[in-house]
Amino acid sequence: MTDCLFCKIAAGTIPVKRLHEDEQVLAFPDINPQAPVHVLVIPKRHLASHAHATTEDAAMLGHLLSAAGEVAQAQGLENGYRLVINTGPDGGQTVDHLHVHLLGGRHLGWPPG
Ligand code: 5GP
Repeated sequence: MTDCLFCKIAAGTIPVKRLHEDEQVLAFPDINPQAPVHVLVIPKRHLASHAHATTEDAAMLGHLLSAAGEVAQAQGLENGYRLVINTGPDGGQTVDHLHVHLLGGRHLGWPPG
């Protein structure tokens, strides 16, 4: 999608530090980090949100989580981390392109706000 921020990042139109990349996914630092490590992992193909995924997206979703785990390991998060997928208005989603937040590097409280 030409007007999607994360599609532009995936395409390289907007430069980011590319922490992990393969043919399906890209990981880059969040611009407004909420923890010492705050990375976004996105599918390169546009999907508006987790709620828009179908069974045909199952392999991609699995790959997204697997890639997030690889990034967590590369970031040295041996003590744990949190993966978050904000979905829709009630879920707090602000960018309409599916993304996994990888948060770590400090103790994270629960429940979230
Ligand atoms: P959401 O609120 O949709 O779950 O998460 C969107 C995330 O994207 C936010 O944490 C926000 O800081 C991040 N973000 C928004 N615009 C940009 C940008 O231009 N570059 C990067 N790297 N992150 C962004």
